[in-house]
Amino acid sequence: MYELKNHTETVVQQKTLQNYLRNNVLNCSCERCQADIMALALNRLPARYYVSSRGEIMTQWESQALPDQTRIITEVVRAAQQVSATPLHPINQP
Ligand SMILES: [Zn+2]
Repeated sequence: MYELKNHTETVVQQKTLQNYLRNNVLNCSCERCQADIMALALNRLPARYYVSSRGEIMTQWESQALPDQTRIITEVVRAAQQVSATPLHPINQP
């Protein structure tokens, strides 16, 4: 009923990374590489946990605690370039 959510993760995945992948070509953007990018970026960003009950909209306090968008973009770009340069799986594997 109640879920613990990391707002940084939502922003990284649903806004920043998807947006980046639409505008940039990586050596590989498979699910594994996207997960690696997420992990790298999220490890460098502060977590913003909040409690969510189903369908509930964030309170004002929670939205004020949002991480800095510029910093998120910077870390996602850095992580994407790192994973693209050295994917953690054989490159010709589907
Ligand atoms: Zn890949």
